[in-house]
Amino acid sequence: FLSDTSAKVFVAGHRGLVGSAIVRRLHSLGFANLVLRSHSDLDLTCQSAVESFFTTEKPDYVILAAAKVGGIHANNTYPAEFIAVNLQIQTNVIDSSYRNGVKKLLFLGSSCIYPKFAPQPIVEEALLTAPLEPTNEWYAVAKIAGIKMCQAYRLQYSWDAISGMPTNLYGPNDNFHPENSHVLPALMRRFHEAKVKGAKEVVVWGTGSPLREFLHVDDLADAVVFLMDKYSDLGHVNVGSGKEVTIKELAELVKEVVGFNGELVWDSTKPDGTPRKLMDSSKLANMGWTPKISLKDGLHDTYKWYVENVSQ
Ligand code: GDP
Repeated sequence: FLSDTSAKVFVAGHRGLVGSAIVRRLHSLGFANLVLRSHSDLDLTCQSAVESFFTTEKPDYVILAAAKVGGIHANNTYPAEFIAVNLQIQTNVIDSSYRNGVKKLLFLGSSCIYPKFAPQPIVEEALLTAPLEPTNEWYAVAKIAGIKMCQAYRLQYSWDAISGMPTNLYGPNDNFHPENSHVLPALMRRFHEAKVKGAKEVVVWGTGSPLREFLHVDDLADAVVFLMDKYSDLGHVNVGSGKEVTIKELAELVKEVVGFNGELVWDSTKPDGTPRKLMDSSKLANMGWTPKISLKDGLHDTYKWYVENVSQ
């Protein structure tokens, strides 16, 4: 893949957190023939539109970073959309890619595909061994179907489809919606607005005790390119930082980076979600890839981006 920088690469979801980071990475590596479509130009949930796009464009490679995503509240509130939209997008893109001669496709999932009480750190083999976390099982079931679809197409058609499972991601172009976003951007925005208003308190959801692993999206983009280049096999691959923090520690760190001086108030009526979600990324490490961006550096970088873009 890396030696083929003139190849036509379709990055689905290029405006999102993940897709935009992959585009930055590919551009920096000299890939000049990227095919990008915004939502208004191509509705990935529409099978006929996707098929006609592939028939016309005939991309060589596809990186599938388009998905309906959201935090614990959004997943709980819009279960139908989370399962339906994700199944539609991935089924359309994977199937049309195969039928239109795409050489290789990479599908991106999430660590929530694993059982709620999977032994930690979570190895790839934990998939489908026990029940899921109920707050995001709709999204998780769709993502599991995507992994299985890639495996099925490899088995039946000998087609090179692979899957990467990133841990909790953050970085530029994240969704900073007050209710529907993930914890890290939600807290960054809440602390920032509290600082600007001179508020004394900020509300944080849950008990603060859940543990989460975070990876900067630029590290993920680097891993995606690495996998496109080096990995062609049946099993999906975890992509994590290997470092976990409690939500309380995360809140304190974000507070410090933003420079908010008030108090944290914990709202325990809000769900904690899964107690711990640390991935075992040794499969990827053994192939020779490791992350480079620390949580602290990543938070500073993300806050800088947020301040520069908050008005939009
Ligand atoms: P999860 O990793 O799938 O559970 O998704 P989230 O990123 O939405 O939530 C992670 C943890 O952060 C949960 O324990 C939440 O209760 C907690 N949390 C604390 N404050 C917030 C917040 O303002 N927004 C979100 N989304 N989660 C929060």
